[in-house]
Amino acid sequence: MKILRRKSRQISVGAVKIGGNSLISIQSMTQFPAENFQKNIQQIKKLTKIGCQIIRIAIPDISQIGSFAKICQKSPIPVVADVHFDYKIAVVAAESGAAKIRVNPGNISEKNFLKIISAAKKNKIPIRIGVNAGSVKLNESKNMPKILAEAAKNFSNICEKNNFLNFCVSIKSSDVLENYCANKIFSEMSDAPIHLGITESGTEFSGAIASATGISPLLLEGIGDTIRISISGKRENEILVAKKILENLNLKSGPRVIACPTCGRTQMPVGKIAKKIEENIINVSLPVKIAVMGCAVNGPGEARNSDFAIIAAGKKMAGIFFRGENIINVEQKIVADKFLKIFNEKLNLL
Ligand code: SF4
Repeated sequence: MKILRRKSRQISVGAVKIGGNSLISIQSMTQFPAENFQKNIQQIKKLTKIGCQIIRIAIPDISQIGSFAKICQKSPIPVVADVHFDYKIAVVAAESGAAKIRVNPGNISEKNFLKIISAAKKNKIPIRIGVNAGSVKLNESKNMPKILAEAAKNFSNICEKNNFLNFCVSIKSSDVLENYCANKIFSEMSDAPIHLGITESGTEFSGAIASATGISPLLLEGIGDTIRISISGKRENEILVAKKILENLNLKSGPRVIACPTCGRTQMPVGKIAKKIEENIINVSLPVKIAVMGCAVNGPGEARNSDFAIIAAGKKMAGIFFRGENIINVEQKIVADKFLKIFNEKLNLL
């Protein structure tokens, strides 16, 4: 099944296209201020390896622009300057190699927002208009989704009136329902590309669930052109969660490891084996299904419905299957390694 995507206009962030008929891109943000060149570059390289396509860096102070420019030069993926309050930082970042500027126009005057638009125009880079529930005044919060969508629309109008269409919009709330409604309302008002995310979504486990719960309904309705999963914790998890959400919705091609939940019949450490396989096939982009099953009850059926399978064969052995056929039985303690070897050999045949 394929999701029918909303028709948005397309912008380019460096070599990455957002909107139009481009695939939904995955973004993240580094955990270091721009002044820390080494740590930023290390983290960007790590995240790029596992599938991050666009990276954002906070520039808290204009004195950090030199280091930011160096990061832009060395980064393997486009770098977005994250700027708050001081429009001058955004203007200088646009001149210093930023592939996009992310601002919240709510904390910059209109006069200064126009200066950022001029800098973006001059340097031919897009702007992300970021509207966050956290920056909306409390006395305005009665109908927060409408207020957020209208704020985003007003800032979009300022861009459009100034003949600047090179922008995308993000509307984020930590409240999943508010986030859904605000993006839904905005998507019906504009054809600007939409960046999705649940802001301040929480720790690794709850944040991943809040993000999946909040983003998936919008993606299912075809809304969203790029995503960022905001998790407090190990940064790599943001990318892995984003990839999983997109793969589950057929919006990204990649392997899917299904594993039985285990029960009183389980004869094999299913979770451990499935995790090891998953961690070692992160960069595979083929849509293959791998089943890891703890006993023979549902094992053979899942093996037939999957490209690959591992099924417990007693308490010590496990069978490796390819397209429903049992190609080898090995000891459970080496089954993950053996499987990965066979998997890599067979990939060429798929
Ligand atoms: Fe239990 Fe077997 Fe089903 Fe796994 S496949 S949950 S071990 S019955």
